[in-house]
Amino acid sequence: MRYLLASAALIISAPVLAQQDLSKVEIKAEQIAPGVAVLFGAGGNIGVSYGEDGTVLIDDQFAPLTGKIQAAVAALGAQPVKFLVNTHWHYDHTGGNENLGKAGAVIMAHDNVRVRMAAGQGNQKPSAKAALPVVTYADGLKLHLNGEEVRVIHMPAGHTDGDSIVHWTKSNVIHMGDLFFLRMSFPFVDASSGGHVRGVISAADKALAIADDQTTIIPGHGEVATKADLQQYRDMIAQIVAKVEASIKAGKTLEQVKAERPADGYGVKADGFITADRFVETVYNMVK
Ligand SMILES: [Zn+2]
Repeated sequence: MRYLLASAALIISAPVLAQQDLSKVEIKAEQIAPGVAVLFGAGGNIGVSYGEDGTVLIDDQFAPLTGKIQAAVAALGAQPVKFLVNTHWHYDHTGGNENLGKAGAVIMAHDNVRVRMAAGQGNQKPSAKAALPVVTYADGLKLHLNGEEVRVIHMPAGHTDGDSIVHWTKSNVIHMGDLFFLRMSFPFVDASSGGHVRGVISAADKALAIADDQTTIIPGHGEVATKADLQQYRDMIAQIVAKVEASIKAGKTLEQVKAERPADGYGVKADGFITADRFVETVYNMVK
């Protein structure tokens, strides 16, 4: 998710966010398996893999939080961050890259993450060299450490065009990045970063295919979830897309489709980051 968007209604100033909110943010750790934890603070949820072979961080929120994140990692009994994986390029997931890169972490992400970070776009400025991924991939990679294989898997054009999910194969944990929000917002499909709603559905399908009822699913934002939660999210999106498509076929305008309230009744926070109307509009524009 990005907090600052092209939509005028949602523009807030980044310095205000940085000075007023982040100084008060506490990083809270939740252990979800031996050697696997999630850190909550501000911005995208952080996954941590740690053990005798070193610490891997999945995403790193905002730059002013790096010290607190490093302290939370140390409090887990983990070594300093050796590898950092970015699930996508948005700055609430990559804001700590420069600090961690300078501290010696090897940053890894999909090819398009590096391209978009280097170029900048809208209100996300071009990144400093130390913030850029040094290992990039087209399809994914595998980390062999801490007693298991941790798979980083690219998902084509979903939330953005550079999304990856991370699968801890032994601990049975999946970090979805922003391909999954748990109930706190409707999906954010960032068309300006090459995202597409159909890609969000297929990413959920691929994750569901490798999950079971015991899998712990880390959403990009929101509390830790289950396979059933992800299934519900996937079905919600597919149903809304189908309803909007049917209405478009029937010749309805965007305003008429919105008035039909196709996103109601799914238990998603109505005034969340992406409102029902905004999501319906995104879907309408993508499938019309
Ligand atoms: Zn995002």
